[in-house]
Amino acid sequence: MAIDDSIKAKYEAVIGLEVHAQMLTKSKAYSNDINEYGASPNTQVSVVTLGHPGTLPVMNKKTIEYAVKLGIACGCTIAPEQYFARKNYFYPDLPKGYQITQDKTPICTGGSIIIRDENQEEKSIRLTRIHMEEDAGKSIHDVDVYDTLVDLNRAGTPLLEIVTEPDIASSTEAYNYLTEVRKLLRYLEICDGNMEEGSMRCDANISVRLKGEKAFGTKVEVKNMNSIRNVQRAIEFEISRQIEAIENGQPLTQETRAFDALKGITISMRTKEAANDYRYFPEPDLQPITVNEAYIQSVEKTMPALPRVLFEKYTKVYGLSSYDAYNLTDSKGIALYYEELIAFTSNYKAAANWMMGDVKSYLNEFGVEIDQFPITPQRLSGLVTLIEQGKVSTSMASQRIFPEMLNSEAEAIQIAEQLNLIQDSSEDSLKAFIIEVFNNHPNEVERFKNGEKQLTGFFMGQLMKVSKGKADPKTSNSLLRQMLEEL
Ligand code: ADP
Ligand code: MG
Repeated sequence: MAIDDSIKAKYEAVIGLEVHAQMLTKSKAYSNDINEYGASPNTQVSVVTLGHPGTLPVMNKKTIEYAVKLGIACGCTIAPEQYFARKNYFYPDLPKGYQITQDKTPICTGGSIIIRDENQEEKSIRLTRIHMEEDAGKSIHDVDVYDTLVDLNRAGTPLLEIVTEPDIASSTEAYNYLTEVRKLLRYLEICDGNMEEGSMRCDANISVRLKGEKAFGTKVEVKNMNSIRNVQRAIEFEISRQIEAIENGQPLTQETRAFDALKGITISMRTKEAANDYRYFPEPDLQPITVNEAYIQSVEKTMPALPRVLFEKYTKVYGLSSYDAYNLTDSKGIALYYEELIAFTSNYKAAANWMMGDVKSYLNEFGVEIDQFPITPQRLSGLVTLIEQGKVSTSMASQRIFPEMLNSEAEAIQIAEQLNLIQDSSEDSLKAFIIEVFNNHPNEVERFKNGEKQLTGFFMGQLMKVSKGKADPKTSNSLLRQMLEEL
């Protein structure tokens, strides 16, 4: 029995997300194996990663720094004392037979990430914890017809696991949450956030309940989504599936399901009864970690301005719209460029328009990032200033000067002069043009005096003609109106 929307509307979804982010460290979490995606299979695995007898793990301090950065950014409490634990299970891509993780003492607890809800209102998603652990290797099922292949290069890659409280209420909120997390990881340069390559992964825990109900429903964990969009699709499917099951009187079981992106459905992988008992115990080969206040402060000093802080500044101090501010802070590169640009011009809105208009069009057209954009912020500010001073029109700047600047090192003013685009905005020369127009058209002047005010447009057109298009329209317009009144 399919369920219609009025029945669905009686239910609400409860969602908690677990994100695994591979850290961009040079070496792995507990060995000096190179940590890099894309190498030939099994070329980046030493005996330490394989857990051979007699080898010892060595803590990569960079992973602590990255975890602390993210913790500070999310307002988490950072644990002064932590130890590692072994999570034991058998799997062909787990050569040691256990994963090193943090069980009872995660490095970060509490904190939150601010997202937009369905109505574009701000909503805080509370974090349960962020902890450090290591990735397993990779089993590859689709390359060989008969066998599963194992690539252990990924084994020992440092991960941050970021777990939310079940605060997410819809697939859209989940989408927005993941977008924010990815943005933050990229700003902090902790993780490249690439879900297609698996360097950021997400497990979605989903349940539904009747609105007004206090108790949570039975949750299902969905894995295997390789884009933020697919997480959204998987959640949408799962919400409908669960509501239908409940309405049809079929009990839900706590289970893990996999998302099939082609069919857009989830499929049962294993039920809770088959769940592993990981037999966590403290990792005997690694020292406990201490993180003191001085260290946290030293890390905080190295952190860039965060997207949220920039957003606040752009909306509250620079008076930009939320839309503009959101776009400008979408990527760190764009935000940094804008920051440099407005160091040279205080015309914040005009600068934002250039960024979101001509600059982004260029980046999209050529498929490049802002760091490959050929015009420096300082040179672009020259163009913004030329328009502000009324020396060139916005349309000439965009159509003629900007394209020239892309292909040369010249300043906007030089190009404007070369192309003969400098507008005349000196009152004296504009006045002379207006008098010339009046002299050329005595009949129209008479008609205007007799009340045909609509002739203003005609005079403006003539003014552009005699000035060969170089009269600054804004100044000309007000001067013309003033002189017409005085006729
Ligand atoms: P497990 O022990 O199965 O891993 P956890 O309690 O660690 O479960 O929670 C894992 C994730 O599931 C967290 O993000 C949490 O917010 C979320 N979660 C817990 N209970 C529910 C529920 N009933 N519905 C949806 N999400 C839930
Ligand atoms: Mg869990």
